[in-house]
Amino acid sequence: MKRTTRSLKTVFALILALLLLAGTFTGCASEGSTEEKTESSTSSEKETSKQDEITLAGNLNIGGRDLLTQEYEVDDKLVVSVPEYEMNDDDPMAKPEPTVPPVGTDCGAKLIALTFDDGPTNVSEEFVAALNELDVDCTFFMLGYLIETYPDAVRAMVEGGHQIASHSYDHPNLKTSSQDVAFNQLATTENLLKNIDGKTNHYIRCPYGESGDYVKSIANAPLIYWSVDTEDWKSRDADAVYNSIMTNAYDGCIILCHDIYESTRQGTLRAIPELKAAGYEFVTVEELLKRRAVDIQNGTTYYDAQNSGTTYPDNVVPLTFGSFAENMPAATPTPAATDAPAAETP
Ligand SMILES: [Zn+2]
Repeated sequence: MKRTTRSLKTVFALILALLLLAGTFTGCASEGSTEEKTESSTSSEKETSKQDEITLAGNLNIGGRDLLTQEYEVDDKLVVSVPEYEMNDDDPMAKPEPTVPPVGTDCGAKLIALTFDDGPTNVSEEFVAALNELDVDCTFFMLGYLIETYPDAVRAMVEGGHQIASHSYDHPNLKTSSQDVAFNQLATTENLLKNIDGKTNHYIRCPYGESGDYVKSIANAPLIYWSVDTEDWKSRDADAVYNSIMTNAYDGCIILCHDIYESTRQGTLRAIPELKAAGYEFVTVEELLKRRAVDIQNGTTYYDAQNSGTTYPDNVVPLTFGSFAENMPAATPTPAATDAPAAETP
């Protein structure tokens, strides 16, 4: 970077020199090029020790000020330098450069990824229709054996623009399962999803958020955790789900819900229009990560994607996000009951 800047400076100084030589230099610089002109002074100063002679070369107008320029030869090349001058607050050049977000980062929108685990169920199609009505895109982390049972529901999700994703075949703890079991749980579910939408590398959310080294090593997709836990499995109360979302949602969050509960379906459908009215856009997890320019890697766990494109290492718990820090310390495995077991699915 430094080298590039330096050569740019040199190139610019040479262009200035050529302009002078051609006699076309009018003493008035255009506004758009002021920045480079100041930079050229630094470069020239470093070379003054090698200069042969300095001659005064008239005025240059930068930021509304006339500056006395100098020209001199360095290694037989004519260099024009602009002397440094003190900035004041009105000077356009004194203003700090705006912070430039990573390329592709979507800083303009407020994004939420609403995620639903443990389905699909016999009411999923109805719920998807209600979500479509609200014009939102969500992500469904589903169990393989239920995908087999309700394939039409999964097709409806795809048609509605929602993201379909894997939550294993029948909800074991993949971290404590044997490698064979873990592999088959993920491979079978991936195949079921692929048979429906024809795609590969479906995102994965491990049951209880528990992955482990083996799953990370074989995952052919990113592992998706969450940063807002509605604890809907515990409350089974629409008001509580609604309040949790309204209180804890933030730009870039990933919200954990289980659409197998009527209370969750009610609470989310109530929160969505209000958050939309507050300027939030509901997107799939994949869209959230991509629009925030997150470097998406297979086997890496993602918790959220704030405007800066946040990626936390697996063993780091974000400290300030809703109920996450309180309830989901990374070192403490979630009790089985906290992530609705498949047996309780309606
Ligand atoms: Zn689950």
